Amino acid sequence: MAARTHTGMRGISAVPSYVVMQPTTLCNLDCVYCYLPLRAVDRRMPLTVAEAVAASVNPWAASERFSVVWHGGEPLAAGREHLAALLAPFGPAVEHHVQTNATLIDDAWCAFFAEHGIRVSVSVDGPRARNGERVTRGGRPAYDRILAGVAALRRHGLPFSALAVVSRPEPGLATELYDYFLDLGCDVLGINIEETEGVNTRTNARDAAAVTGFWAELVAAWRRDPRIHLREIEWSLRYAGAVLAGTADDLLPRRLDPIPTVSHDGSVVVLSPELAGFTDPRYGDFSSGNVLTTPLAEILAGAGRTPWVGEFLTGVEACRSSCPYFGFCGGGHAANRYFELGRFDGTETEHCRNSKIRLLEGVLEHARDHESPAA
Ligand code: SF4
Repeated sequence: MAARTHTGMRGISAVPSYVVMQPTTLCNLDCVYCYLPLRAVDRRMPLTVAEAVAASVNPWAASERFSVVWHGGEPLAAGREHLAALLAPFGPAVEHHVQTNATLIDDAWCAFFAEHGIRVSVSVDGPRARNGERVTRGGRPAYDRILAGVAALRRHGLPFSALAVVSRPEPGLATELYDYFLDLGCDVLGINIEETEGVNTRTNARDAAAVTGFWAELVAAWRRDPRIHLREIEWSLRYAGAVLAGTADDLLPRRLDPIPTVSHDGSVVVLSPELAGFTDPRYGDFSSGNVLTTPLAEILAGAGRTPWVGEFLTGVEACRSSCPYFGFCGGGHAANRYFELGRFDGTETEHCRNSKIRLLEGVLEHARDHESPAA
């Protein structure tokens, strides 16, 4: 299935397709697997940071589709008034998204989303019993509050995506989750196998057959009723189709999307939001600059010179020359390499095994199991 020659994706693009913004470091929950180091403190983004980012983003949005993703912490913990002020400098062509734990969503927030055209993505791990690790700061289950937020979205007719973390893949789970999300009413679903990153140091080494089986079962569940855009499965099928059509080399972008994350204080970390807020004796604070002193466009134009980014690009080339899954994966995420391997120029991680290699293997396993006898 793996195409052998991949000429695309060399270096980093100077223009992203979206920017991640951190309106506050605070989160009102304290999920057990969370990677965020400052989630107990409320460091809010000043308006000057949003104005500086918008000065670069507005011209980009005038020529290409462009999104700002308000992430956190919990972005709604910044409050409607502050979030409205942060949104104000962005022009009408910019699309806004929030990634939220949904616990603060009520009628007033729904009116706010509608007024500002904000697309909502909810973090929820499945039915009540699967959300035991999504807890309040006092350690109490957050599930009822998450569902109340989702109910408000549905009452207001606001479409939403869902993002689920799977910590223990096991037989039956994929079907249970897919059926749950059909009932929940989301129109897009992303599934992350838990990752070892940030302050979450739990191992993500998983049994290979269990993970492959999880993805294979998820394809089967989705094919029975493909009403939800299932992010990982659609990527995989698109890649499989391109390999069969001989066009796999066209799937990866020509250059890596820099995906800048702008922290509450204006510092910019490219490629991996999970690196924001960390420091390392070798790599410093991972930032490529600060929008309060340098325009974002200029920071991104020079991002390839950030020392750890150069090391990461070496790792991407190592993946290109050694890994049969490169055409699908494109070399993985910087943060996973750093938090698993302690550096950026390694190749395989547990994350890429769980979320790229075994994903593709699971799709192929499903295809083999459902092969027509006449084929
Ligand atoms: S990150 Fe992993 S799956 Fe992706 S190309 Fe590198 S070794 Fe292959």
